[in-house]
Amino acid sequence: MAEIKKLAESRDLTRIERIGAHSHIRGLGLDTTLEARAASEGMVGQLPARRAAGLILQLVREGRIAGRAVLLAGQPGTGKTAIAMGLAKSLGLETPFATLSASELFSLEFSKTEALTQAFRKAIGVRIKEEAEVIEGEVVEITIDRPAAGGAAAKTGKLTLKTTDMETVYELGGKMIEALTREKVQSGDVIALDKASGKVTKLGRSIGRSRDYDAVGPHTKFVRCPEGELQKRKEVVHCVTLHEIDVINSRTQGFLALFTGDTGEIRAEVREQIDTKVAEWREEGKAEIIPGVLFIDEVHMLDIECFSFLNRALENEMAPILVIATNRGITTIRGTNYRSPHGIPADFLDRLLIISTQPFTEDEIHQILGIRCEEEDVEMSEDAKLLLTKIGIETSLRYAIHLITAAALACQKRKGKMVEIDDISRVYGLFLDVKRSTQYLMEYQNEYMF
Ligand code: ATP
Repeated sequence: MAEIKKLAESRDLTRIERIGAHSHIRGLGLDTTLEARAASEGMVGQLPARRAAGLILQLVREGRIAGRAVLLAGQPGTGKTAIAMGLAKSLGLETPFATLSASELFSLEFSKTEALTQAFRKAIGVRIKEEAEVIEGEVVEITIDRPAAGGAAAKTGKLTLKTTDMETVYELGGKMIEALTREKVQSGDVIALDKASGKVTKLGRSIGRSRDYDAVGPHTKFVRCPEGELQKRKEVVHCVTLHEIDVINSRTQGFLALFTGDTGEIRAEVREQIDTKVAEWREEGKAEIIPGVLFIDEVHMLDIECFSFLNRALENEMAPILVIATNRGITTIRGTNYRSPHGIPADFLDRLLIISTQPFTEDEIHQILGIRCEEEDVEMSEDAKLLLTKIGIETSLRYAIHLITAAALACQKRKGKMVEIDDISRVYGLFLDVKRSTQYLMEYQNEYMF
């Protein structure tokens, strides 16, 4: 449990780094009737696709999505990943979002089914409620035993805390003394005290005790603490994914593997034990499952074995919402000689709700680039933005978005305040888009091949 706590505290940071390209997406940008707003929550355009995703959202909320999956069909860079992520965000802040590109399955050192199992478990959240003794109350008195002159720091003390029903005296240990000293807690303060971790949070000051007024400066904000707030609070909630619990409990990997991504293969027994434990916690009311969203891109790269895995996995009661994407029309189903729509076998096609995404207009690309500049804290002149929009149309939206960071660095290097046309031209010359790089290689292939 302690490791889960540590993990819950540190995971936000890694998550932000991993999803940088879509960090501006905060939802599907729908109104209360699930109609798509032109631009909202970081989302621009793609109105029919977002509206359809809104209906999926409704199905999920009503618990009627079981056994089905969503297919996003559209050209590269038309926002398929963005819509899947918007769906996850609309389901709630704690909803996990995992992505996997089908081609990755064939390059990992472990089996395809292991990689798919890990992806599924990354998209299943567990909300664990822990009994922690957090006491909120008004500090009546603190005494910290003074160390003898020249001696070590104080190690003991007493804290009298008044809650609604009583005044209680707590013996203080070193950790708590440190926290109380760091927070400069004095009598009259209202604090939350987590007895297990020794964490102290100052919530404000009580205005009920006039004798403490002298100790308060002119800018001190008074907080009236209503009766109810001065009570013992006992519940602390952590949200982790099943995959994270697997890794923590897998003796060969351990907690740090989550950050290096080097989780290796996880033994089936470990997962069985975790599932049993989680089922127990659920029964005791200590845990809840939060089905997340699993997004699998380039789904035409999956082979027939992977599809039968997905067919089975979707029947599991904890299954996440599976969103798959492709930009292929009719193609061969990998591992067979059959051709089918999107390279997907007929029994799996049967489960799909299909949404198509369309290429963005010039104006939409311009707006998305504007949002990305804000997100990355980059000041860009309107001329530069227009040039970048043209580049986005000629090449791809993703390439244009990448150039924002590079152009900002070029601007920083010349000690400029705002990204200008020259910065864009410079990085456009330095970094090739796919069209130019293939052209280049084709022109020079004789020199490259020998
Ligand atoms: P691919 O098929 O190549 O994987 P994709 O269709 O998944 O591409 P995304 O990666 O979602 O496309 O989109 C490219 C970039 O544009 C991302 O940074 C994404 O966040 C942003 N983006 C896509 N659609 C929208 C949108 N409707 N509004 C705002 N930003 C978007």
